[in-house]
Amino acid sequence: MFYIDKNTFKEDYLEKYIELHGEEFKFGNMRQKYEALGSLVRDYITKIKIENNKTNNHDNKQVYYFSMEFLLGRLLGSNLLNLGIRDICKEGLNELGIDLDELESFEQDQGLGNGGLGRLAACFLDSMASLNIPGHGCGIRYKYGFFEQKIINGSQVEAPENWLKCENVWEIRKPSNSQIVRFGGEVRMEKINGRLSFIHINYDPVLAVPYDTLIIGHENSAVNNLRLWSAEPVSNEFDFSSFSRGEYLKAIEYKNSVEAISNVLYPDNTFYEGQMLRLKQQYFFVSAGIQSIISNFKKHGGDIFNLNESIAIHINDTHPTLAIPELMRILLDEELLSWEDAWRITTSTISYTNHTIMAEALEKWPIEMFKKLLPRIYMIVNEINERFCKDLWDKYTYQWDKISRMAIMADGYIRMANLAIVGSYSVNGVAKLHTEILKKQVMSDFYYFYPNKFNNKTNGITHRRWLIKCNPQLSNLLKETIGDGWVKHPTDMEYLYKFKDDENIKDRLALIKKNNKIALSEFIKNNQGINIDTNSIFDVQVKRIHAYKRQVLNVLRIMNLYNQLIENPNLDIEPRTFIFAGKAAPGYYLAKKIIELINAIATKINNDRRVKDKIKVVFMENYRTSLAEIIIPAADISEQISTTTKEASGTSNMKFMMNGAITVATLDGANIEIKDQVSEENIIIFGLTEKEVLDYYSKGGYSSYDIYNNDIRINRILNDLVNGAYCNDKENFRAIYNHLLTYNDEFFDLRDFDSFVKAQDRVDKLYRDKSKWYSMSIINIAKSGIFSSDRTIYEYAKGIWDVPNSSCKDK
Ligand SMILES: *Cc1c(COP(=O)(O)O)cnc(C)c1O
Repeated sequence: MFYIDKNTFKEDYLEKYIELHGEEFKFGNMRQKYEALGSLVRDYITKIKIENNKTNNHDNKQVYYFSMEFLLGRLLGSNLLNLGIRDICKEGLNELGIDLDELESFEQDQGLGNGGLGRLAACFLDSMASLNIPGHGCGIRYKYGFFEQKIINGSQVEAPENWLKCENVWEIRKPSNSQIVRFGGEVRMEKINGRLSFIHINYDPVLAVPYDTLIIGHENSAVNNLRLWSAEPVSNEFDFSSFSRGEYLKAIEYKNSVEAISNVLYPDNTFYEGQMLRLKQQYFFVSAGIQSIISNFKKHGGDIFNLNESIAIHINDTHPTLAIPELMRILLDEELLSWEDAWRITTSTISYTNHTIMAEALEKWPIEMFKKLLPRIYMIVNEINERFCKDLWDKYTYQWDKISRMAIMADGYIRMANLAIVGSYSVNGVAKLHTEILKKQVMSDFYYFYPNKFNNKTNGITHRRWLIKCNPQLSNLLKETIGDGWVKHPTDMEYLYKFKDDENIKDRLALIKKNNKIALSEFIKNNQGINIDTNSIFDVQVKRIHAYKRQVLNVLRIMNLYNQLIENPNLDIEPRTFIFAGKAAPGYYLAKKIIELINAIATKINNDRRVKDKIKVVFMENYRTSLAEIIIPAADISEQISTTTKEASGTSNMKFMMNGAITVATLDGANIEIKDQVSEENIIIFGLTEKEVLDYYSKGGYSSYDIYNNDIRINRILNDLVNGAYCNDKENFRAIYNHLLTYNDEFFDLRDFDSFVKAQDRVDKLYRDKSKWYSMSIINIAKSGIFSSDRTIYEYAKGIWDVPNSSCKDK
């Protein structure tokens, strides 16, 4: 295990500072101090890695986690924590007059992801390293991460997120490990030595240059790698001086078109657009990643026929599905294997996680576009499809409907989910309900065809970031009460359960919650100038803004409560502060209107003196990992109110639970498993059941107009959307009104309204009984260990990747 004493650390730091900045530390500014600490920590991790390389043999199975997104957030604090030197550094820096917390909050988030899917990948990296599993990330080094959200006059405005404008201390460019990725051109077929060969000609080459970020495990000295690829022109074709004018312009064009590939992350989530550049991005990082894995494997003398014994490749959603035909291409065209061997190796190496059942999110690419951009890959996908359809025909002769539903290519499109299922050995959903819906509904044809491929791995979150790091006071309370075994084995948090009626522990928990609420309220005061009452209930909904996540339902309930308070100023309610945050996809009109509506009701309510001691609404700008780390420890209520069946798992639900919030939830995604852990009395459930929702979708019978006509509360709040009550421009919220009425309320906001209001009344009553409330809170914390991503990764390692000898404890 890594150890350093305080004085050595201080010496190292001062030395590093001079090396980096060429002057003594006392002249420096905050950025320089941060950069020096970051580089020093990176050096420490690098040294550990080099030590490991000396002693390790390379026989352990390596896992490669391919993901288009990694939402890492900040790394300084979590690296210090995992190295086990945070306290020593804090003291040492203190003696130099530096506040470590301040340095940590100076770091810019690494925001290369949209939301849950990217954050999951980041939690998995932390857990793989902490469980001593050799598991590496592979993705894209976007020059611009997820946009920065500003709220101007109540509306979302997007600014480019130029996260690389300051030095990224964590990455190291590795030009000698670059790969060439080929786009366009043609494929010539030729018989060479009696074998039909496929020669890719006239293609546009793109240089893929890796940037590596080391990932350190928690106090175990394991070091893994996150490799992000950047697109650059192939250098010898880009020598300006040697071009004539016409060629010069062409060269500039080439340079720009190449760099566009890793320029920006597509800001969409559960909605998919068939953009050519996105397909380019997908093939770009997948091809570079697979080429580098195979060349490294061969360099260490691996036998390609046993690839799957040494290597597992996991694809996070369908975005990296081209890993399947790309691996086939290398095995066929470069390793000269037979189709049968190549297919056997590929389909025993690649596994796939499905993240959504929403039809609008399922990726499919127009065949014509695909063929032009990736001619050789197209041929391989075509062959996979033909062979698969033949198998289908043998089993389902004349069942044309079924065969065309399952085909990889149909109606002019390549369907990525179908390719991912056919070309992998494991398909998992991300929560029990989600996996059941995959098997029973969305992918039932495939489930009957390949029953053994399907399995569930309920998502998780790293308790190191989402408890130890973001809520140190709670973490210390746990250590004092039940010891620190749970740090290594998070399910041991359950030992806290027996303190559920301990008044002393409840008081301490209440105090910690209060302190976290004060910290959040100060942040809000400093950033938005709003004063909030830290004795009020902090009622929080933070996540991407999307119709299915139903921020609208939450807003309708607040509008209704406001109406009630105006009518009856003496209405006896516990004061509440409603806190929202979340980004809307820039092209998602309704979502952006929802942000406007939240801000409009905030302005109205926060300026109405009649309700000033009762309710307040805050929309926090630019939701991101580091902001979540401030909000979540301060929450009393966690709103997880998606339309049942729509949220595959959710992960913020787990973060809130682990920090002692009480969940108000529909029986959707992992909320069900949270309920199973804490039992019905310690969570507040409302809304339609799975069966009711599925019945509405299959049989119809839902009319939002009927509800509007029969419920005077709803009648009034919907009218208020379009009569100028919240906006001078009466038409401003027409889209939301239409969504709920004209288009019949696709996500059943009105149907669940009454049930939701009653659930919130229960919250009100429960919160008054502080002893009961904190008892519930303790139970939630105690039962949250199972949602550590260590448990999730342990299940992937055992059940999918077959990683032997990992040091993870059998649970
Ligand atoms: C956890 C997390 C998410 C996912 O939130 P859900 O409520 O599960 O959708 C999204 N964004 C950030 C920054 C997160 O930390």
